[in-house]
This record gives sequence, C-alpha cells and structure tokens, in this order.
Amino acid sequence: MKRCWAEIDLAALERNLGCIRAALPAHIHYVTVVKADAYGHGLQQTATRLMQSGAELYAVANVEEARQIREMGAGWPILILGALLPEEIPSLADYDLIATVSSPAEVEAIHTLGQQRNRRQPIHLKIDTGMGRLGIWWENAGPLIRLIQSMPYLNLAGVFTHFSSADTDPQYTREQRDRFVGVLRNLPDLDLTNLLIHADNSAGIETFEEDLPFNAVRVGLLQFGILPYPDSLLARVRIEPVFSFHARVGLVKTVPPGASISYGRTFQTDKATTLAILTAGYGDGIPVSLSNRGSVLIQGHHCPILGRVTMDQTIVDVSALNEVKVGEQATLIGNQNNSSITTSEFAEQAGTIPYEILTSITKRVTRIYKTSREL
Ligand SMILES: *Cc1c(COP(=O)(O)O)cnc(C)c1O
Repeated sequence: MKRCWAEIDLAALERNLGCIRAALPAHIHYVTVVKADAYGHGLQQTATRLMQSGAELYAVANVEEARQIREMGAGWPILILGALLPEEIPSLADYDLIATVSSPAEVEAIHTLGQQRNRRQPIHLKIDTGMGRLGIWWENAGPLIRLIQSMPYLNLAGVFTHFSSADTDPQYTREQRDRFVGVLRNLPDLDLTNLLIHADNSAGIETFEEDLPFNAVRVGLLQFGILPYPDSLLARVRIEPVFSFHARVGLVKTVPPGASISYGRTFQTDKATTLAILTAGYGDGIPVSLSNRGSVLIQGHHCPILGRVTMDQTIVDVSALNEVKVGEQATLIGNQNNSSITTSEFAEQAGTIPYEILTSITKRVTRIYKTSREL
C-alpha cells in the first residue's frame, strides 16, 4: 500500500464494454473515447485492453494522445476529435490518423497534405447540430460535403455530431438528431454504406434509436463504469466501477471542544473530537471544494471531512469509530465493506462533474492496475 493510490480494474472495464455492446444492436461500431489519458485511467494501460475487449476505433483529443496510441500498435484506427493547429496537419500522414474537419479551410489543408504524400487522407466531417463548439453549422453542411467529395486526396470515412444535453434534455437531443439526419437525407448522392455515422456519447445511448442511420457510438465515461445520470436507463446494464481512490491514516489524535481545524479556521469542534489525518490532499486530486463537505470511508463508515482540504493532507472526524490505527486505509472513491462512494457522488459533493474529478487525480497518485481476466 502506498500513501495515496488509485486502483483501476481492467477486467471491469472489459466487462463494461461487453455490457454496452450487448445493449446495442450488433451492427453498431464501438468508438472508445480515451482522451485526457483515458479519463485519468492511463492511456497506455487501458488502450490495448479496450481493443481486446471489442472497441474498433480510438477517439482522442489531439495529435500527442494519438501518437501515444500509434506507438503501441500500427493499424489501429485513431480519430482526433479536436481541431488541428496548422503545424499539426502533417502528423496526420506521419502517424496515419483520422482528422475531424469542420471548415473548408481544414478540408483544403488536409487535401493538400494528401496530395503531397500521395495518399487519400481519411477524415470525419463534424456537423454542429446545436452544441456550438466544433463542426460546420448543420444548415451549411451540404456544400462542405460536396467540396469533400470533389477532392481526390480525401477519404470521407465518417460523419458525426455531438449532443450538448443528452443527460438532461431528451427533447433537444431529439432535435439535434433530426437536424443531423436531415442533412444526410438531403444529400441523396452521398453513399452512406462506407461511412461511420455517429452521434451518441454515454448519455446519448439512452435515446439511441435503431431505425436512424447511426452505425456507431462514441463512449467515454460509461465504459469506465460511471452512469451519465443517476436514474439512467443504463442502470439496467450491469455497469461496474473501474476506478477507486484511496489514502491512509497518517496520524490519529483527539482534540478538545473549541479546537480550530486546518487553514482559515473554517471548522471548530463543539466536543472532544478524534481526528484522522489522511495522507492525501488537493495535491493528489481531492478538491478544495470538499472542505467541510463530504466524507471518506474508514472501516466502512462515512467519516466527515473537517476544515479545509490541504495540499498533502485531509482531516476527517473518526469520533464515531472505536479505534482507528495509523496506516489504515481510507477510501475516497470506491467500496469498503457494504458502503460505497461513487465517483458521481464524490463529484456532486465537490460541486463538479465526474469527468473533472477523474482528470484531476494528479501524477503523484500511483495507479495500480488489476488485470486479471475472468476465465
Ligand atoms: C468526450 C467526448 C465523447 C465521450 O463522451 P462521454 O460522455 O464520456 O461518453 C464523445 N464525443 C466527443 C466529441 C467528445 O468530446
């Protein structure tokens, strides 16, 4: 045991991927989203396992993340979701990557690269159906698709869009789907058979409909065992947590009533209180916003966080426990006995979203991988 560590259960990741695929029609392709170091789970350690578990295409944010995957294996298809800077364009050919394009300027720059290298450069066209981030605005998509079709050194391999509110607003998501499908329907000479057509992220899968032209999903959070929202239909899919986060008790002591706890004196004891000082703080990824909020599990009990979370240490109230020993395990996210704190609960207490929690666990935290496969 370390001072502070995260456990990543690769067998659970594999089972989750299997469950998600089983919940979708068999012809649906699986794009595994592994941006930001696979949502903090470690790209190196998860990427191979995801491919072995049935993922077909990696999606990453940028060229650097794509390069890390390419070094692990030639041939695996990699889609870059983010916009490319002009100087990054040659990497598409160097590392055999698929670019996301949103504008005529990007299309032309990538076509020029294809011409220079004498190869058909694969691209996915992104259509903005109401996210207001990347993508060509849906009402302007037709001419851009025709431009792409006229360019011999480009290979239009996919068309996609992204939902802004799939977790909160099914009606708006429906509207986004309809806009996207409308664009494709208005281009009768567009051959859909060899195109990857995708929209759904984890939350989108909730409203996935088989009769629409979609033939792929792009899944990030859900494969890591986190439901997009608590009453998710996906709860019926047996998704398991992949990630847990732990520290240890470094010191136990009892202070009298009226003692001030931590920087800024935001907490004063009103009775004799037994404190456990944990060996992790915001320098490990415990948000300062959990100061005087939330709890950690020790011996399966919820022990409240007292005072401000500090860089290397966090103070919790263990007065309710009989005896706590130095070195005992404290679980910030995960299960202990029959109690649990999920990543979503931890995020909610901290006033943020699970995505931010996972990508904010710092380098100091050792990742321990459970790799055993169920035979
Ligand atoms: C991050 C991302 C996803 C994955 O979203 P999840 O909610 O984690 O499933 C899908 N598509 C795009 C464009 C993304 O940026």
